[in-house]
Amino acid sequence: MVNLEQVLNLFRRRAEDASASYRQRVDAISLHNHHKVLEAFRKMRVSDHHFKGGTGYGYGEYGKDTLDQLFARVFGTEDALVRPHIVSGTHAITLCLFGTLRPGDELLSATGTPYDTLQKVIGFPHRTLNSLVEWGVTYRQVELTSEGYLDLQGVVEAVSPRTRMVLIQRSRGYQWRPSIPVASIQELVGAIKAKHPHVVCFVDNCYGELVEEREPTEVGVDLMAGSLIKNPGGGIVPAGGYVVGKTKYVKMAAARLFAPGLGTAVGAWPEGYRQIFQGLFLAPHVVGEALKGAIWTSAFLTSLGFEVSPKPWEPRTDIIQAVRLETPERLVAFCRGLQQGSPVDSHILPEPSGIPGYADQVVMAGGTFIQGSSIELSADGPVRPPYAVYIQGGLSQEYVKLGVLHAVRYLIEQGELQFPDLSI
Ligand SMILES: *Cc1c(COP(=O)(O)O)cnc(C)c1O
Repeated sequence: MVNLEQVLNLFRRRAEDASASYRQRVDAISLHNHHKVLEAFRKMRVSDHHFKGGTGYGYGEYGKDTLDQLFARVFGTEDALVRPHIVSGTHAITLCLFGTLRPGDELLSATGTPYDTLQKVIGFPHRTLNSLVEWGVTYRQVELTSEGYLDLQGVVEAVSPRTRMVLIQRSRGYQWRPSIPVASIQELVGAIKAKHPHVVCFVDNCYGELVEEREPTEVGVDLMAGSLIKNPGGGIVPAGGYVVGKTKYVKMAAARLFAPGLGTAVGAWPEGYRQIFQGLFLAPHVVGEALKGAIWTSAFLTSLGFEVSPKPWEPRTDIIQAVRLETPERLVAFCRGLQQGSPVDSHILPEPSGIPGYADQVVMAGGTFIQGSSIELSADGPVRPPYAVYIQGGLSQEYVKLGVLHAVRYLIEQGELQFPDLSI
């Protein structure tokens, strides 16, 4: 008689074998991005004194400017704004939207309904206090095709004389659709610029950094933003966000972060900037580990009969692994099990709850060192059909495996999943 541990071990090893060649593909991308980051550090002549924090107005923190230039090099842009004062990815994106858009302008989403928290920022579908819509910016969106791809022609035709910015969300967010590869973004931006060169192409790059060899800003995107407690923070940055792009637009975002006329030399961070430098340095490796963990997870959960996206063999442009769990009970149980396989708060039972910025209740597993960090292993999902869980991050692929094994074990113990059939 075989016990559950033996069966799970067998399925783990099978998934390792089945996904080996796909995980190996990550190595080449990872090395390319390691090289890119190292060269940026060398060119910027990063030194110990760049790490020093300050007080008061924050003048004399010499690392800030170097940090900006470092990100600009890695993302292939003219300029960057990288600050722990940016509280989240949503905040970084908000700086770009409010910095660039003026009353009477139109924002056009090329990727359908934006990420949950951005709907509040835009004021769509419901008007919210101080949202873009309340400021007199109009908003429209072009839906993705039924297969979840960019509708190139639809977007180009939807651009009106008032359209100032096109918003492209690279990652799927909480949607059951493929993420948008950099090559597709390149194609779209090329098509938009050919007819409407004045339109600002903006990318929400959350979860996408360093997953491919090129970033969207290397293929024509004007402005882009993301979070430092996701990919580019390498799992060690305690807080912050970044904006990269053309100098003109980065300056506009900076004027929203602090105040018009203050520039970017202000803003003290007494703890200093070492972790942000070091986090970027580690990011290519950590993103690679998260990707390999996601590819294995995809193969493992497929072998247990779940529908997954992406499939193990599909190329990736973000670190998210989505899995359809089909019932709210399974969604909650999966997150509870994954939480049990986390290094911090493993004894805590996640419950679905309302969180600021999200319309539906969300259940989240995240036993992470940095609160809410999703480059560390985490899983979450809104409690709405198809009750998909979105798994992302992992500081090592081994920890991803252990976490997901905990989740599956818990599903079985709770009667939410049958004892795996050895004959498959
Ligand atoms: C994480 C994320 C954001 C921003 O979320 P924060 O929690 O505010 O950092 C925006 N868009 C997408 C697609 C995301 O995944």
